[in-house]
Amino acid sequence: MDYVKLEQQYGAHNYKPLPVVLVKGEGVYVWDNRGKRYIDMMSAYSAVSLGHSHPKIVDVLIEQAKTLNIVSRAYYTDKLGPFLKRICEVTGQDMALPMNTGAEAVETALKAARKWGHKVKGIADNKAEIIACEGNFHGRTIAIVGMSSEPQYKDGFGPFPEGLKRIPYGDAAALEKAITPNTAAFLVEPIQGEAGINVPPVGYLKHCAEICKKHNVLLICDEVQTGLGRTGKLFAYQYENIQPDGLILGKALGGGILPVSMFLAKKEVMNVFTPGDHGSTFGGNALSSAVGLAAIDAILEEKLSERSAELGHHFAEELRKIKHPAIVEIRGFGLFIGIEINPDYCTARDICLKLLEVGLLSKETHDTVVRLAPPLVITKEQIEAALTMIRTVFTKIPATVSA
Ligand SMILES: *Cc1c(COP(=O)(O)O)cnc(C)c1O
Repeated sequence: MDYVKLEQQYGAHNYKPLPVVLVKGEGVYVWDNRGKRYIDMMSAYSAVSLGHSHPKIVDVLIEQAKTLNIVSRAYYTDKLGPFLKRICEVTGQDMALPMNTGAEAVETALKAARKWGHKVKGIADNKAEIIACEGNFHGRTIAIVGMSSEPQYKDGFGPFPEGLKRIPYGDAAALEKAITPNTAAFLVEPIQGEAGINVPPVGYLKHCAEICKKHNVLLICDEVQTGLGRTGKLFAYQYENIQPDGLILGKALGGGILPVSMFLAKKEVMNVFTPGDHGSTFGGNALSSAVGLAAIDAILEEKLSERSAELGHHFAEELRKIKHPAIVEIRGFGLFIGIEINPDYCTARDICLKLLEVGLLSKETHDTVVRLAPPLVITKEQIEAALTMIRTVFTKIPATVSA
């Protein structure tokens, strides 16, 4: 069976996958339909931080699947409350609103921020503004792409909602300048993932937090990709010793098995929601809750943040030793690393295709960045194996500019 052809014929062409058909995953490895094994250094955009088919999470999934799955939020379950309590304790937030995908949790945050702006801050009706950053990635709904600076994300999809502004990333002064009496929230990724693992200047987020506090504006961190250990801390905002007013989680929260996302906030914000305001048929279902709780427990028990910090540091150091003119920069935090490629030599996709040949899965983000974000359960030996593959690939990239 030609699976590539099938997807291309019957599936919308909204992705351009690398030419490999995956049939099995275990830990940091995946296998294709010809039996070839790869080290997964993409982890489904960090959704698989716990590795493929983590045994403990699979056990919880199977047990819960046999017991209770979907009953909707029309009723209470014995699984949702304990999950929400745990995630609130871990994040230091007061309350949580469970959804499924990252985009839904971001939409939830936008709705909460606007309603808080109107009902608590006292902004005139329909005037609340939300500030986001150039290069942001918060998902794909119409409101969210309305905030994007990426022309392709928006082309043909307008008109977009009003009240969404954009400022340069990494520039706290620009935030202070953009704030008006109608500003409800500032939405920011502590490190921009999809934009190419963009790390802002040290002190940026702390400065933003002070500015937000001064002007009674909510600071909402989108940690859908950076959260839950990816960057070497449980949450990337902890590098700046701040506590955001709202926090968005997703991806790894589903333990690499289910879509589980969440908006968390302090009481004053979350209490703007009243029954009937907002919801999701599947959000917070018993199966997702059981899996989400198991995911958080596994991330903490297995000390995956610490592992990410330690191995990420080593990985980046070794990558920096690869001297090749096509490599502009290695950047990132923990096991969240971007290799910036000089497009005069090759594209990031060329590198990803060559890595695929030698048995390593990665994915370019934009044309010039190779993202390396393996499952956090990876071992030092597996990192060494990946480094050997990466070194091999760079020996095959000509060190002279093609005319
Ligand atoms: C992936 C991502 C989202 C969107 O998540 P989906 O589950 O794809 O809707 C939102 N924010 C950030 C920072 C992301 O990386």
